[in-house]
Amino acid sequence: WTEGTQDDADNSLTELAALAETAGSQVLEGLIQRRGKPDPATYIGRGKVDDLGAVVLATGADTVICDGELSPSQLRNLEQRTKVKVVDRTALILDIFAQHAKSKEGKAQVELAQLEYLLPRLRGWGETLSRQTGGSGRGGGAGGGVGLRGPGETKLETDRRRIRHRIARLRREIKAMTTVRQTKRARRTRNAVPAVAIAGYTNAGKSSLLNRLTGAGVLVENALFATLDPTTRKATTSDGRLYTLSDTVGFVRHLPHQIVEAFRSTLEEVADADLVVHVVDGTHPDPEEQVRAVREVLAEVGADRLPELLVVNKTDAADEETLLRLKRLWPEAIFVSAYSGRGLDGLRAAVEQRLPRPAVEVHAVLP
Ligand code: GDP
Repeated sequence: WTEGTQDDADNSLTELAALAETAGSQVLEGLIQRRGKPDPATYIGRGKVDDLGAVVLATGADTVICDGELSPSQLRNLEQRTKVKVVDRTALILDIFAQHAKSKEGKAQVELAQLEYLLPRLRGWGETLSRQTGGSGRGGGAGGGVGLRGPGETKLETDRRRIRHRIARLRREIKAMTTVRQTKRARRTRNAVPAVAIAGYTNAGKSSLLNRLTGAGVLVENALFATLDPTTRKATTSDGRLYTLSDTVGFVRHLPHQIVEAFRSTLEEVADADLVVHVVDGTHPDPEEQVRAVREVLAEVGADRLPELLVVNKTDAADEETLLRLKRLWPEAIFVSAYSGRGLDGLRAAVEQRLPRPAVEVHAVLP
């Protein structure tokens, strides 16, 4: 089901398929349902559930991924009707974040987000699973091995209590880690080293550009979400001034609010930057939508007040017509290719020009 046009639905579904593949799934078939609004019971509506059931049987699929956020009861109903595991966009994204988180803080934040997502759904999943699998469990992917083991009200209550305890503990741990990061940040401010944050939609080429600009060996993956924990590198301007460049977490459309919450503290670092380099993928079918989505998240963490340098990447692979259109749309943007190196000197110059100049300290010498 989708609110937008056919194109929106197609793009969103293509992205969902890419996300599913990133999570290690093989995508068999896509189904689009057009409705005025989601069906309260099954999200896609009765008739479509039958179609979906037929597709599941025909393809032998073991999972249905829904491009939207399902309520606990919609999820339960769909699982009962299709007899396979049903995952919504939020759960899928949380799963990918869990696979890719590297730092201790990143891991703790994803686990927290997963548990908060899981808590209200615990009963639904437990019931469905107990009916389907006789109660044998599957881990929630929630790190701590918190059970979705299912049936029995008492067991359920114990699980809930354990999850709440774990959530409280994770919150405390994250708070402590945040303090450490803030201290580091304060040091940076004292040193007055200007900071540049590279933001942009997932797969736009942020890591590639960071590599190009600093010569650092950051992992570049043709997968969504290679970047979850920010990477900071030092760079110098042509006249020898030091600044830092940080790659930030990737953004996707409809980023689950749990994730925005979970990564708020990491994203908030963006708000401390002196400049945001906003990278856009010039080969994407809908770059404007990407820009909108990223700006929305930037605004949520208060980074929309910062100067922004829009950079259109992948000009080597984008078609001329699109590039012309984007040039008219964003006359201030810098067009580059992290692959061929085209436009990178211009980008460096533009970054340098926008960096704050160090304040000149004047010491009055009293006679
Ligand atoms: P990030 O998620 O924004 O950090 O994106 P990455 O830097 O990991 O790049 C995502 C994908 O786009 C990778 O497959 C890169 O090889 C590819 N890519 C990055 N820059 C360019 C470019 O200038 N041209 C082309 N054709 N592909 C690029």
